[in-house]
Amino acid sequence: MSESHIPSAIAQSEADILAAANRHLMNTYRRPAIVFTHGRGCYIYDAQGRAYLDFLGGIAVNALGYAHPRIVRVMRREAGRATHFSNLFHNQFQGPLAAKLAQWSGMDRCFFTNSGSEAVEGALKLARAAARGSDGDAGGKTRILALENSFHGRTLGALSLTHTEKYRAPFQPLMPGVEFVRLNDVADLEAKLDDRVCALFIEPTQGEGGIHGVSADFWQRARALATQHGAALIADEIQCGLGRTGRYFAYQKFGGREMWPDIVTIAKPLAAGLPLGAILAREKFAAAFHPGLHGSTFGGGPLACATALEFLSIVDEEGMLENVRLRGEEIRAGLEKLARKFKFIRKVRGEGLMIGVELDIDGAPIVEEAFRQGVIINCTHERVLRLLPPFTVRSSQVKQFLRKLKKILESVSARANSSATQQPAEQPFTSIAHEHTARS
Ligand code: PMP
Repeated sequence: MSESHIPSAIAQSEADILAAANRHLMNTYRRPAIVFTHGRGCYIYDAQGRAYLDFLGGIAVNALGYAHPRIVRVMRREAGRATHFSNLFHNQFQGPLAAKLAQWSGMDRCFFTNSGSEAVEGALKLARAAARGSDGDAGGKTRILALENSFHGRTLGALSLTHTEKYRAPFQPLMPGVEFVRLNDVADLEAKLDDRVCALFIEPTQGEGGIHGVSADFWQRARALATQHGAALIADEIQCGLGRTGRYFAYQKFGGREMWPDIVTIAKPLAAGLPLGAILAREKFAAAFHPGLHGSTFGGGPLACATALEFLSIVDEEGMLENVRLRGEEIRAGLEKLARKFKFIRKVRGEGLMIGVELDIDGAPIVEEAFRQGVIINCTHERVLRLLPPFTVRSSQVKQFLRKLKKILESVSARANSSATQQPAEQPFTSIAHEHTARS
């Protein structure tokens, strides 16, 4: 029997791949006109064989970098056994993974999803179901609070909790009953959190919003008020959780059990690049779900859960949290040095390997110049450079990054200073040429 030949995208020319993307993908991202083929450690490689130092880590997903040997081994093993059974049956890995996540987070129970947004949607439903109670009467306890500057996802429920107007406006009307509290404004929180609130969503460190931490005062008051009014305090740790700040969860800096949230959402790095998220909850809230109330076809399949168990073991066994803290300090110290040289750097923020560099100028030209020079970073909220390197990043790679960033900032400031006389640099990031909308 001849071996079946499955045409691989890599077998096509880069130009053909880009043409197909331009013609058939929806126009949702601005991307450089190159194709990435593989990665190793903290580097990714394009179809021309060029290496890029990745300090964005697939937006906080690739916490172990690329092709970590233990992850590759588990994925290969499980792919050859079963990728999916369905949630009508137990698999070997969901229970042990839920137990390990309960141990890390201090929560009791877990529901597996396929993305962060889906975890947020499920947490919304859990909080609403818990408020309704066993008698099925919510008694008007349906209001939801989130914070200004927040990001919780793109699906309609999660988008309703996301503050940024440009993400929301095109899709109005969103879910009713959501109100926003000013970040770290205790008085605003006290004014808005009452008995009709069923959930308060907080990113302990806001990611998309530009790496802003919630203050201890604000969190403590949120915890006390949520308890007083019987609302669920929900920590969205999709970006800041699972080791990113140098702790298992960012909320753990606020204290022990009495400071923990009621519900936690996670996703991004959980299954080392396979789509897997989860809702974690204390028993009191988790008890609101019973068979038939919530579900997911793919969530928590054996391949993804086995990989996630391996991810959590690697974080524990290979000293990842310490590396996150130490490398984070090195990066911040280097950035502070650069801030003294480049006056357009206003502030360096963040914890562990979740770092924001606030600028007085637009960040896009810096991201584009970095890309030209083989470094991947990104920019959020127009003026905050965001760094989310893998937990495995080495000291030598931090040094390499800081050296390169200095050169990148020099090029951008030199160009800005002589912009009147020079041609603008070619823009590597473009949106898809959208023939259909252009014509209509
Ligand atoms: N919450 C937070 C805090 C996030 O950072 C993100 C993704 N950036 C989401 C939710 C949505 O996750 P996903 O893109 O996996 O749906």
